[in-house]
Amino acid sequence: MSPGDGPRVAVVTGAARAGSIGRAIAARLLRDGLQVVISDLGGPLDTHPDYESAGASDLRDARDALGALGDVHALPCDVRRAGDVQALVDGAVERFGRFDVLVNNAGLGVGLTPVVELDEADWRLNLDVMATGVFLCSRAAARQMIEQGDGGRIVTIASQAAKTGLPLLSAYCAAKFAALGFTQSLAHELGPHAITVNAVCPGTVDTPLLAVKGGVYERYSAMAGITEEQYRKRVLRTIPLGRMATPDDIAQAVGFLVSPAAGYITGEAINVTGGQEMH
Ligand code: NAD
Repeated sequence: MSPGDGPRVAVVTGAARAGSIGRAIAARLLRDGLQVVISDLGGPLDTHPDYESAGASDLRDARDALGALGDVHALPCDVRRAGDVQALVDGAVERFGRFDVLVNNAGLGVGLTPVVELDEADWRLNLDVMATGVFLCSRAAARQMIEQGDGGRIVTIASQAAKTGLPLLSAYCAAKFAALGFTQSLAHELGPHAITVNAVCPGTVDTPLLAVKGGVYERYSAMAGITEEQYRKRVLRTIPLGRMATPDDIAQAVGFLVSPAAGYITGEAINVTGGQEMH
């Protein structure tokens, strides 16, 4: 990967919310000297009453906060929409002149419910954002990187739920498994272009995603008949390193995968779990 003398340019999807993994990744890449385009939904998600996505003001706040670390630009993009995705890639190139690194981070967890009660719309929403969104963003990024002709990096934030089925999370698991299969296929196709394609698979990361209404904390604690606090303590006992991951733990792995040190790593799904076993 040799973009001449200038800094490399990265795009991170789903990066607006304070305390999120995407925000931490953007900060990591800025500290490492990349120019970064952060992206997220420009308004409320139109398809699910229970889910509060980031919005335009979160994106502005994120840009202002991250601006202290380096050269950052913010663009709205719904990763489910091919037109938005193309505008994101074009906007990054227009602003910074090139596009070297894509981080597919946008995600959500809706419809945490047994399969027999799962709405078709919730199933589709999970797949649309975390499988189709990964495809659309990676396709647009790969086309740009191939045209530039000097390599690139694609990293998808998958999950342990990409490697093992979990109760109440069938749609989320299906989407993340899909993202992992896609990662492996794309790594084959883009290898000849010196573009690496990898996934990072976190265990439990303390972010707003877990605590949302109808989210993991609420549903799993109810299923076990314990409080959310008791459930958190139970999770901690499954992690040999004794703490949940922070968004920074995940960002460090992404920073490594897009660094020159990881130039020979592709098609991998790297666990960042503190040793957690999820069943
Ligand atoms: P988060 O909810 O804080 O961040 C996800 C962001 O994605 C939000 O800002 C949301 O607005 C955005 N988003 C949702 N739908 C979108 C769409 N259609 N287009 C663009 N953006 C959209 O959650 P997080 O915990 O920081 O999660 C980041 C990623 O990490 C997700 O892919 C998630 O599945 C994955 N992950 C999280 C955990 C965890 O324990 N928190 C574990 C494993 C994997």
